Amino acid sequence: MKQKETIIVGGGITGLATAYIAAKNDKHVVVVEAGKNIGGLLSTYDVGGNQLELFYHHFFTHDAELHWLIKELGIEDKLFYKKTSMGVFKNGKIFNFNTPFDLLKFKPIHFFDKIRFGITTLFLGKIASWRKYEHVSSFAWLNKWAGKSTAKSLWNPLLNIKFGPFSSHVPLTWMIGRMRQRMNSRKSGDERLGYVQGSLQVVLQALLQKLDEYNVEIYTEHPVKSISVLHNNISCIHTSQRDFSGDSYVFTIPSPFLAQLFRPILPDYADFLAQVSYFGAICVVLELDQPLSDVYWLNIADDGYPFGGVIEHTNFIPAAEYDNRHIVYLSRYFALSEQIATMETDEIAEMMIDFLPRINPTFSEDWILKKSVFRTKTAATVCDLGFSQKVPDCKMPLDNSFIINMSHIYPDERSTNNSIRIAAEGCKVMGMNADFVPKNNSLSGQIGFSL
Ligand SMILES: Cc1cc2nc3c(=O)[nH]c(=O)nc-3n(C[C@H](O)[C@H](O)[C@H](O)COP(=O)(O)OP(=O)(O)OC[C@H]3O[C@@H](n4cnc5c(N)ncnc54)[C@H](O)[C@@H]3O)c2cc1C
Repeated sequence: MKQKETIIVGGGITGLATAYIAAKNDKHVVVVEAGKNIGGLLSTYDVGGNQLELFYHHFFTHDAELHWLIKELGIEDKLFYKKTSMGVFKNGKIFNFNTPFDLLKFKPIHFFDKIRFGITTLFLGKIASWRKYEHVSSFAWLNKWAGKSTAKSLWNPLLNIKFGPFSSHVPLTWMIGRMRQRMNSRKSGDERLGYVQGSLQVVLQALLQKLDEYNVEIYTEHPVKSISVLHNNISCIHTSQRDFSGDSYVFTIPSPFLAQLFRPILPDYADFLAQVSYFGAICVVLELDQPLSDVYWLNIADDGYPFGGVIEHTNFIPAAEYDNRHIVYLSRYFALSEQIATMETDEIAEMMIDFLPRINPTFSEDWILKKSVFRTKTAATVCDLGFSQKVPDCKMPLDNSFIINMSHIYPDERSTNNSIRIAAEGCKVMGMNADFVPKNNSLSGQIGFSL
């Protein structure tokens, strides 16, 4: 017997995972999504006859929640893990950065600072308690403890390129979450990362099918435009095409959009939500007729580059899967106040491509078979000092409404796995059973879910 109707706003992985758990709890679920397709940031497009993520994606060996979902969907044979290669581009050169031995060979860090780098990295990844460091700036702490040459040659440029104007406000707590995520995916020094054969499209398709079996209704191209409230309950949400009424409402959309929806009804709450701002991200995806480098993940630690990461997907997944096209993501996060947030995408692609001969001097634009540019304004929350004060309670001030979104992932790094984690935590707050979702040792989903 289906019981109450749960309306979920947002059909990214957080909304879809919530829908799946709610459907397993025998709820009648409706998902309302603004985009043409479900998936949000997990969306894919066609490259050489296969699907590829608009924004590079990989998984970690400890992503227990994701493994659970993939198993539920019956596609565990599609998930695999492989050793990958990581590098740092510094002083115009690529340095491998996979093992402690590579660290020893990394000239820009002086000998004694290498020891400090090792100790501080271990401390953050294995020992430090995140709660203690919420008001400590990563920038300041790393400059003090990781050694001057480490900070100058590695951490400062990496923080600058990732966080732009916010780089000195990132709490050490975030760094602890990030280090744990990466370290837990290492086995005897090597990092093993995961991918789904055929792309995340395979996961989304299987999830759609499963949701259909549970009679979950999904409405795409239905952006929610406003909300009606009666007696401290949402009575209805409105899209241009139709209205949706249910017993409870779950909002999984980015906080700034949610703030806009709530402003006419609860202005103080809207102000609270609007405190969480987001970074944008841009990925220029090149399909080349030959490889650019032999590294999968290259962090740019030289100043003045228009991208912070060069992710050569086909050094992870063979180019043969994409009609022998070599795929390179040129990735850059940006604050919404930066010029790149509004620049023409062709202009951005041109600006980034101009820098490629510095990475590989033999690179020529003739190598490019196709280029695509993808940009989002809601790539990640800006986690600044004391961010936990800004994380909203899953239970909203209205009796029948809930919020589960990226802000709940803090202090961990946002990820597909952590979206499933917070979906499970949110369902528990709504009185459902989500004990069947396993928990890895990630730091996400700890704030905002008290019962
Ligand atoms: C560049 C980049 C690289 C990444 N790399 C990785 C990685 O390697 N591994 C990993 O695990 N994760 C990675 N992630 C993170 C991962 O993609 C996200 O954590 C996850 O997809 C977030 O899902 P979500 O549902 O919370 O948000 P979203 O995917 O943003 O979904 C929100 C949905 O809400 C919809 N919406 C918005 N407004 C409305 C409205 N008014 N009405 C109805 N619907 C609305 C949107 O259209 C969207 O579909 C990456 C993200 C980016 C940007």
